[in-house]
Order: sequence, then C-alpha cells, then structure tokens
Amino acid sequence: MTDRLLEVRNLKKYFPVRSGVLQRISGYVKAVDGVSFSVRKGETLGLVGESGCGKSTTGRAILRLIPATAGEVLFEGRDLLALHGEPLRTARRSFQMVFQDPFASLDPRMTVSQIVGEPLSAHGMTVSERERNDRVAVMLEEVGLDLSCLHRYAFEFSGGQRQRIGIARALILNPSLVVADEPVSALDVSIQAQVINLLADLRERLSLTYLFVAHDLSVVKHISDRVAVMYLGKIVEIASKNDLFSDPLHPYTQALLSAAPVPIPGAKKQRTILRGDVPSPLNPPSGCNFHPRCPRAMPQCAERVPEPRERRAGHTVACHLYD
Ligand code: SF4
Repeated sequence: MTDRLLEVRNLKKYFPVRSGVLQRISGYVKAVDGVSFSVRKGETLGLVGESGCGKSTTGRAILRLIPATAGEVLFEGRDLLALHGEPLRTARRSFQMVFQDPFASLDPRMTVSQIVGEPLSAHGMTVSERERNDRVAVMLEEVGLDLSCLHRYAFEFSGGQRQRIGIARALILNPSLVVADEPVSALDVSIQAQVINLLADLRERLSLTYLFVAHDLSVVKHISDRVAVMYLGKIVEIASKNDLFSDPLHPYTQALLSAAPVPIPGAKKQRTILRGDVPSPLNPPSGCNFHPRCPRAMPQCAERVPEPRERRAGHTVACHLYD
C-alpha cells in the first residue's frame, strides 16, 4: 500500500525490573510486546484498551519520547528508530503529541504566546519575533481561541481551553502525524465532545493523520476510521470502526463493547462480565495472555500464543477460536 504514512512492525518496549542490593535486573515488564499496525494518510486509527495495556507507551515509543526495545517504526518510509542527531531532529517536526493532562503539560509560568510558539524556537524555524507571533495567532484561531489569550498565563484557562492551547502547540510545526494520548480523558464530559469535534475539524482542514489513544470506546468511535484493541502489550483485534463495533470477534473486544453504555435509553444488551483483574505484565499468563479472564477459553489457550489472522478484508484477530 503506497498511502501508508506510518507502519509499525513488531514494536517492543520492555522496562527492566531491578532488585537486590546490587540492583541487578531480575525481570522485564513487557509493556509493548510485538505490536504491528499501519496508519494511512488522513486516517485516524483509534488505539484502545484498559489502563496499563501499553497503548500510551506504544504512542510514546513511536514518537521516540522513550526508547523502544525492538522493532521498526516506518514514517514516510524511513525507520524512525534508526534515526539519530540532525535527521531525527528534522523528522520530529513532522510528528507531534497532544498530551492527556492539559493541567500538567503546560507550564503555568509561561504565557500562551510562549507556550504555543516554543516549538518554533526549539526547531529554529522562525526568522523574526513578528513571524513567530503571526504564526501563533493563526494557530490560536485554528483552535478556536481569540487573540486576547496571547499574553495570559496557562493557569488562567479552563481545562478545555488548556487542551486547545496544547493542540495549538502540537500543530504549529505543521506535522503530518499527531499522536493524541487520551486527549479528553481529563476533561469534563460536557467539554469532551467539543475537543473531539475540534480535532476532527483540524484533521480535515490541515490534512492531519491521527493515532488516537483512548480507554473509552465511545470516544474512539466518534473520531476513528479504524480501531485497534490492545490487551497486555499486544494488539488482539484491528478492524474498520464499523466492523469492530457491529461484529467484534475477539472475546476481549466483545467484553469491552458489552460494558460500554447502551446508546438508546431503555435498550437491553447482553453483558459479558470479565473475571478478575488485568494480570501483571511482569509475569503475564502463558499462551493467550487473556485466557485467565476469557469466558470462552479452551485448553489450548493456556499453551499457545494465538497469531493474528485476517478473518475478513481488513479485520484481523488473534484468538484460537478462529484458527
Ligand atoms: Fe479466549 Fe482462547 Fe481466544 Fe484467548 S485464544 S481470547 S483465551 S478463546
């Protein structure tokens, strides 16, 4: 496929666990364990799963905010994980992140003008103060903030406004790929739809491509073209949004969907109750790592890791039910 902007191949991120007086490595937390997917230009891929499943770590490893343990991240055909020095700095302009917590991610001692313009200075991209101010003003308008905000401080704004400032900062370098890491989960429900609609508008107007990380399926449903479901460091199912929501194949996806709110008040649906908690990624279960909680587990599930298989065009699932 020639329209792929991002292709992630067998990405791994293992965190060493140290113990004893000498702090020797005694094991690894396999936060991301062999993740592969691609994102087409102009597309939004939703990456969903429960807290701790590795979805945010995946986003951070792709953007080189943390070092990956192994794998390839092909961005516009080049492996980002193999870039260093100036080529990496140049490539960084093309991919940016919108962070989860607009309260923690903006320095309260900086003005909006300084925050939004900071990436321009960091990448040496402006020739004059005036050009910088002009570009900041354009970005503020793009995200729905007026110019009276320019010289105010981040702490003076509401959560939704701060997230708009964070989005303006992420977009001022004209990136082609944006990783949005739970961008609305820290916001009031009443504000979430506004920010999601803004991100959707910006995608169209600025020809952006998103990797949209979220734990909330209803958030992902609104903005995504395709959805990948993660469990304990692995992608268990990936499909178009319509396929995934109308005909989920993996028992974990089915359980997530059954726990999501019913869109029609009064309508009934069958609930799948998951047993127990998410196991520790330090010591994941054998075989299919979902088997201790899976309502459809079979004897072979504890013995063999299920490989991803394409069941229908564009709909891939990793589960022994479909071997
Ligand atoms: Fe359940 Fe087995 Fe499928 Fe894993 S492989 S999801 S345990 S049926």
